[in-house]
Amino acid sequence: MESFDALTSLVAGGGVVVLSGAGLSTESGIPDYRGPSGVARRHTPMTFQAFTRDPLARRRYWARSHLGWRLIAGAAPNAGHRAVAALQHAGLVDTVITQNVDGLHGAAGSPSVIELHGRLDEVTCLDCGNLTSREELHRRLAEANADFVARVAAVNPDGDVDLPDEQVAAFRPVDCGICGTGMLKPDVVFFGETVPPQRVSRCFAAVGQARSLLVLGSSLTVMSGRRFVIRAAKQGIPVAIVNQGPTRGDGHATVCVDAPLGAVLPQLAARVGAGAPLGV
Ligand SMILES: [Zn+2]
Repeated sequence: MESFDALTSLVAGGGVVVLSGAGLSTESGIPDYRGPSGVARRHTPMTFQAFTRDPLARRRYWARSHLGWRLIAGAAPNAGHRAVAALQHAGLVDTVITQNVDGLHGAAGSPSVIELHGRLDEVTCLDCGNLTSREELHRRLAEANADFVARVAAVNPDGDVDLPDEQVAAFRPVDCGICGTGMLKPDVVFFGETVPPQRVSRCFAAVGQARSLLVLGSSLTVMSGRRFVIRAAKQGIPVAIVNQGPTRGDGHATVCVDAPLGAVLPQLAARVGAGAPLGV
């Protein structure tokens, strides 16, 4: 437990910036997405280019995403999310940067979360720029696709499925309800798309002022998150990583804890006096 002790003293020092990834949400029943696109690992990630240029790819995305939405919408924060919120309320964690698009940090009561890759529960129109709720889009898609959903759900209750082309062809996507014709996209950063520069600047500013950077549940495969670890290491800011399995940031870390987050984080919160989070 030498590494846990090192982790504890780092967090007890305060001024922590958290960078969280998919591993923090797996205990909430959300599959370990390899990236921000909302497409599970065994599927090829959707790229921004395919989404915007290929009508069939876009139709396929919305068909799968519509089927899988209830999994995301029904997910609740777990002990790890609650421990992070407790550390924030105790004044030890200043900012949470998350690569997750599930909104669970906020649901756990975390104030000031930078959602690096956006949120799945918001939908943007690529033409008029209006932002609408995914719930509303879900209702419209359900209305337009009642037969489709009934047919597919009968064979694939979890909605995570490779749909054959003829089934995808039967899915009817809808356009923007505000301008009437615009192409809708979940307000998340797809592969091949860049994170809005202002958002990246906010993250760099937070990391630059941190006393330590704590990575939770990310293998740091994508440069989008790894760059903050590299920056911290360059500035001599200690980096701690809690993840199951090795990460691409381990070489920059002063502390690595390989353990389930739902077990480690409540212990950590209790050790530094942030109190046992509710429900643990
Ligand atoms: Zn529009």
